[in-house]
Amino acid sequence: MRILISADIEGISGVCAPEQTVPGSGEYERARRLMTQEVNAAVEGALEGGASEVWVVDGHGRYRNLLIEELHERACLISGKPRLLGMMSGIDCGTWHGLFMIGYHSRAGAAGVLAHTINGSAFAEIRVNGSPVGEYFLNGAVAGFFGVPVRLISGDDCLADEAAAVFPSAEIVTVKEALGNRAAVHLSASMAHQVLREGAYQAMSRAVEPLVVPSPLHVQIDTVRAFHADLFAMLPGVERVSPVCVEFEAENPVLACRTLNSLSAMAASL
Ligand SMILES: [Zn+2]
Repeated sequence: MRILISADIEGISGVCAPEQTVPGSGEYERARRLMTQEVNAAVEGALEGGASEVWVVDGHGRYRNLLIEELHERACLISGKPRLLGMMSGIDCGTWHGLFMIGYHSRAGAAGVLAHTINGSAFAEIRVNGSPVGEYFLNGAVAGFFGVPVRLISGDDCLADEAAAVFPSAEIVTVKEALGNRAAVHLSASMAHQVLREGAYQAMSRAVEPLVVPSPLHVQIDTVRAFHADLFAMLPGVERVSPVCVEFEAENPVLACRTLNSLSAMAASL
């Protein structure tokens, strides 16, 4: 059984401040080590639960956070940017038994530690077919497009509530409780690893189904500022809805994510 792990940093226990998510400080160096350790705990649980192969996808920021020298010896690492499938790179490489999402966070516009969807500076809210969504939904839909079910999701309690509504059969591991956007009650690192390892083990035998999103996907983006919408409307296929809202249609979740990631990269040019 092969398991793909998509890893982010905002939902890691001990992480609650933007400084911890951006390279250039000692706080970031601590956070990336905590991220690597939580991933390792999930790898251990997956192996104990019967996984024969585990790949880990670095999915935060520049996609170069995980410390390969401290990564579990049995895991392979996907890192580096840009990548066509972004946080879901590798999902098209052979047959997977399931996807784990580690260190994930709640959606833009909602409660939870460091809540955002793809790009907190540009996207105030993303809706798919009318419902606000987070990265867990978009990436789960990409996995579903390839027939792969989400087996495990970890992050704070706000993510847990959102994810339970989308993936009711998945194992959900809560490693911290949000006290606000930049504050939380964290489990100790060793306890977070313990619950992740146990959750990953349990996740291996769960009966889960791939998330299927009806085609086409109607995607609306509320932008943080009107100039973001000015920029996004330049991309063919993206239509202006209001001064701070644009929309587009995508045939499938992969194409929706490719457009969203492209818009996010465009926003970085401003
Ligand atoms: Zn992130």
